[in-house]
Amino acid sequence: MSNLGDLQSLASSIAAVTSPFRNYLNDIYEKYRSLNDGVVADYIPELALAKPEWFGICVVTPDGQIFEVGDCDKLFTIQSISKAFVYGLALEDHGREYVNSKVSVEPTGEAFNSIVLDEATNRPYNPMVNAGAIATADLIKGQNSTERLKRMLAMFKRYTGREHDINVPVFLSEKSTGYRNKAMAYLMLNFGMVSNKIDETLDLYFQQCSILVNAKDLAMLAATLANGGINPVTKERAIDEHYVQDVISVMFTCGMYDASGEWAYRVGIPAKSGVGGGITAVVPSQLGIGTFSPPLDTKGNSLRGIKVCEDLSKDFGLHLFNVAKPERDLKEWLEGGNINDW
Ligand code: GLN
Repeated sequence: MSNLGDLQSLASSIAAVTSPFRNYLNDIYEKYRSLNDGVVADYIPELALAKPEWFGICVVTPDGQIFEVGDCDKLFTIQSISKAFVYGLALEDHGREYVNSKVSVEPTGEAFNSIVLDEATNRPYNPMVNAGAIATADLIKGQNSTERLKRMLAMFKRYTGREHDINVPVFLSEKSTGYRNKAMAYLMLNFGMVSNKIDETLDLYFQQCSILVNAKDLAMLAATLANGGINPVTKERAIDEHYVQDVISVMFTCGMYDASGEWAYRVGIPAKSGVGGGITAVVPSQLGIGTFSPPLDTKGNSLRGIKVCEDLSKDFGLHLFNVAKPERDLKEWLEGGNINDW
């Protein structure tokens, strides 16, 4: 980064500390940190180690302002949130038509790990449920498994601006207990929907779920999509602009598991959650939101994360279909956070 770039990012961080929006985020953080409902995922021992009190909220604007409160540097596994971004990579690798012939874009209303395919076409319903995500991982190009994984990691780096590691114990646990996912992969192989590299593809899928991220990375992933595919800080393009709307669309209709309809109705912001406790939410052209709090509701969504997104949506009128005047004007609240004011 140039010296000017350094100065701009410093000014931006200072501004983000003083903006009224920062105080707003502090308030909702305080409001929900004492919420003690939900349970931490425990289907593998490593996830059960997460502390219920961990809580972070990060918001990034398309012009690169970063607002953080709480545990925004704490690393956790990305889990299902990876599915949206790997779908984008598959689209870049093969184009819309081919990917669509292998994975549909229809919400299921079923749990994310349900073993169900579209009866007419044998396709998994969408890339956000496990079956669809496994079929999507199968599509990622590369000479061998190492290269395929490297391409995924390089993609995440373009979105977040930093290198990502895999949590190996989580990967190994997912791999040694993931019989259900294996069953889905074989069912899809039976119908010719995936290649016969089942073990390699499942490894890739379990590895993508085990990528370590923090709340800030989740906000950056979302802000990059909100910004048309360009990381707002590094200015690097993470995904071809033509596929950004595909990724955001499936997040909107299928991203919150079998609570996607209710989420669309109540919050109205395209989002994707993971059982590690993360939520990444995209307000096109306006904000990228990342939340982290491990206790989940019965559908697998982070409870504090849901509350935070509900408040942001309501208070700033961020619901995609909102036409009423919002309680607070986002631009005004971000003011003082604009680097051009410095
Ligand atoms: N790794 C999990 C699985 O394959 C996916 C978890 C998630 O976030 N839903 O079951």
